[in-house]
Amino acid sequence: MDHRSALLNSFAHQIPSHHEVLVVGGGIAGAGVFRDLSLHGISTLLIDKKDFTSQTSQSSSKMLHGGIRYLENLDFALVWEALHEKNLWLKLAPHLSYPEEFYLPVYKDGLRPLWMIRLGLFLYDALSSFNNLPSSQANATQTLKQIPLLKERGLTGSGIYSDAVMDDAKITLECIYDGLLQRKSYACNHTSLERIEKYQDGYKAVIKDQITQCEREITCNKVVFTTGPFTDKLLSELKLFDWTPKLKLSRGSHLWFDNDMLKLKKPMVLTPKDGRVIFVIPQRDKTLVGTTEVKGRADFDQSPSDEEVDYLFKNLKEFFPKAIIDKKYLLGQFAGVRPLVMEDGENSLGKVARNHKVYQPQENAFVLMGGKYTTFRVMAQDVVEPLLHQMRRPYQNHLSTLPLRKPSQVVPWTEFTLSPQLIEQIILEEFPKTKEDFIHRRLGSREEDLSAELITQIESSLEKNLKAVTQA
Ligand SMILES: Cc1cc2nc3c(=O)[nH]c(=O)nc-3n(C[C@H](O)[C@H](O)[C@H](O)COP(=O)(O)OP(=O)(O)OC[C@H]3O[C@@H](n4cnc5c(N)ncnc54)[C@H](O)[C@@H]3O)c2cc1C
Repeated sequence: MDHRSALLNSFAHQIPSHHEVLVVGGGIAGAGVFRDLSLHGISTLLIDKKDFTSQTSQSSSKMLHGGIRYLENLDFALVWEALHEKNLWLKLAPHLSYPEEFYLPVYKDGLRPLWMIRLGLFLYDALSSFNNLPSSQANATQTLKQIPLLKERGLTGSGIYSDAVMDDAKITLECIYDGLLQRKSYACNHTSLERIEKYQDGYKAVIKDQITQCEREITCNKVVFTTGPFTDKLLSELKLFDWTPKLKLSRGSHLWFDNDMLKLKKPMVLTPKDGRVIFVIPQRDKTLVGTTEVKGRADFDQSPSDEEVDYLFKNLKEFFPKAIIDKKYLLGQFAGVRPLVMEDGENSLGKVARNHKVYQPQENAFVLMGGKYTTFRVMAQDVVEPLLHQMRRPYQNHLSTLPLRKPSQVVPWTEFTLSPQLIEQIILEEFPKTKEDFIHRRLGSREEDLSAELITQIESSLEKNLKAVTQA
């Protein structure tokens, strides 16, 4: 991507006024749709009110997984699909994901005995068409060797199965960079859809650049809403068509700890007696712990409540009695809201299926909701295929199974030195617009980890870029 196209691709006032498709919402669902449409040569504009992937899609448990717990709901089709997608993405984006063995400790007084876990894990392997690294089991001694600080009393052993760890923010971003290699596609972060109405055979929309405050009108033949948990609220405000709320929002919170606290080498799954599941996933020098499951609201930029933090602390203390569980090890925390599609007769949030749904409330309007991060490619296909069919263009299945072509400047889990040149390069090619976009999602880092001098450099480069673009 050259300088000019990077600038063009980033600010609302510089994009063309007509696009074949407008995709609203740049989390993983929107990024998947944008990439698939772009790979098919469709001129597409993707917009997001905030930074791309700054909402639910950077607040996941960061696993590409089949969803071991969905076996209990007998969601075999979903688990099959997710396991196949997980194994595909391990191949397509090996720099953004890696396979891991997860330990599932079993206790005498736990909810499930070891034999039942073994059976479940065999089924899990089978649903991956035996492409998963094979599951196995460990006795109590072997388990404690891997997880020395784990509670010993009543431990009978562990089931061990294979899933994957990923960088959620980077996969979304790289899908967008990949789509942008198609010259007729544009992506604007910090750009909201304000109004939309029917116009000729398609739509006229007013979009607003939240940085420059500039509003402009664009037209498109078709619109796709991929606004995740914000969809019900947005669609009822836009009044483009009749829309009955369909989402059940479930909020989940995670905590990042220094690895010194639990000294874990392998990720593991805790199963407290309340029937919930807590993942504890070491990633280099940090450990991710989550998630909770409480009723959520469609607010931007969520953070965990005190009760959710207390809940995770309480369970860590119970499962790791030999460790010092202390806030001094806490490095960060985040929360996100699952956009679950309402199923009649379901009350428990944890049991609502993670299936996605596509709605077509008008001939040229599509709404994609629900699903899981792991299955975003097939979710996108379920929108793009009928959309192309309407346009009398063939859908080519293989395109979205091609590897991502445009890696980020800073690849996760690797060391990097932030030189002035690298700062410039990231701004030009990956279009962060705020300090937070830059540090949090383009670097995958925290402000506390950078020197004051570097932060000043980042801020002044972002400002310089904004000036150049607004004067262009
Ligand atoms: C706690 C938690 C843990 C999870 N863990 C996993 C996991 O480990 N693995 C897995 O596979 N799945 C996981 N999931 C599920 C997965 O994260 C979500 O299904 C997925 O990220 C949802 O993506 P999305 O694109 O639909 O929504 P979002 O990422 O929220 O994207 C919607 C976007 O729409 C934008 N938007 C809203 N209004 C407007 C507007 N007016 N104009 C323009 N843009 C707008 C928002 O800014 C936002 O960026 C988890 C979910 C949660 C909550």
